[in-house]
Amino acid sequence: MKTQTETVHASGSVTRTAGHKPDDIHVSFEFFPPKNARMENQFWASIRRLEPLNPDFFSVTYGAGGATRERTRRTVTRMVSESRVAPAVHLTCVGVDKPGIDDMARDYWNEGVKHIIALRGDPPGGMGEDYTPHPDGYAYGSDLVAGLKSIADFEISVSAYPERHPESADWQVEIDNLKRKVDAGAARAITQFFLTGDTFLKFEDRVRAAGIHIPIVPGLMLQPDYRRLKCMARMCGVHVPEWYADLFDGLDNDEDTRLSLTSSVVSELIAELHDEGVRHFHFYTLNRAELAYAASRVLGLHHCIQDNA
Ligand SMILES: Cc1cc2nc3c(=O)[nH]c(=O)nc-3n(C[C@H](O)[C@H](O)[C@H](O)COP(=O)(O)OP(=O)(O)OC[C@H]3O[C@@H](n4cnc5c(N)ncnc54)[C@H](O)[C@@H]3O)c2cc1C
Repeated sequence: MKTQTETVHASGSVTRTAGHKPDDIHVSFEFFPPKNARMENQFWASIRRLEPLNPDFFSVTYGAGGATRERTRRTVTRMVSESRVAPAVHLTCVGVDKPGIDDMARDYWNEGVKHIIALRGDPPGGMGEDYTPHPDGYAYGSDLVAGLKSIADFEISVSAYPERHPESADWQVEIDNLKRKVDAGAARAITQFFLTGDTFLKFEDRVRAAGIHIPIVPGLMLQPDYRRLKCMARMCGVHVPEWYADLFDGLDNDEDTRLSLTSSVVSELIAELHDEGVRHFHFYTLNRAELAYAASRVLGLHHCIQDNA
């Protein structure tokens, strides 16, 4: 059932993939809560386009410092009743004390939101500022996971960083932190975005060597605006390889080519990771379905729609 094609990567390497029977493929899609009516329409249009691919979940982010608290909640609770795909809600420790977070979590559970992506969050001043835990709050991601698990048997996903979290002094600190989150009850880790397959695969090896066995799901960024991508990468400590910069150089006013190149580099990344055994992919959709849908076709998920029809 597997028809192979050969992919020559922009970075020079070659992998063969595509045409899989996608029984063992899992995808999930990340959104941010829409701000206004126009964005709301786009959000729901994207949900409707991606729903038939049977993703494991749609996740909805929680703005830095809890800025989108109400919007996130409204969006996710509407998804429970209006989408057949289970939502996962992002929740951070920032700006709210423990009883406040516990109440939110209980409300989510009672409203049917059973999957939480539990995070520490960035300092209110943004990444790069010193982080000081709320005096009466959960301090770090691992504390939040433990707190949530004591409230209800949530499915919990956490973050992981193939290039280390910028505040982790070394790999030991980074991996110990991930271990604490697993010990506290995390079922999977979703990674920060990265731009080369090698970055993820080396990280996965490191995690496995440390005896961590939960699924590590690569987070793939679908950002066709190279200037924004560069800015995000700088803030998050993500390395942009020279070949990547060269590919997008001079295309600031050429959206069509940027879209096409983004699709192409993401397809190559998927092919490389799939060849190495990765079977769950998480897509940062930026609330647009086009690239996420195309990436899912690379994984063969359109065959599922036909099979189900
Ligand atoms: C998949 C994913 C989704 C995200 N979604 C959101 C979102 O919706 N909203 C949002 O605001 N942000 C989001 N973020 C960003 C995230 O909040 C930031 O990267 C933040 O800086 C760290 O959060 P964390 O949960 O990874 O932190 P943690 O896992 O708690 O770790 C953060 C840092 O603190 C260190 N640390 C951990 N425990 C201790 C301790 N006890 N003492 C000292 N240091 C410690 C760790 O080593 C690490 O360097 C997301 C990130 C990812 C990867």
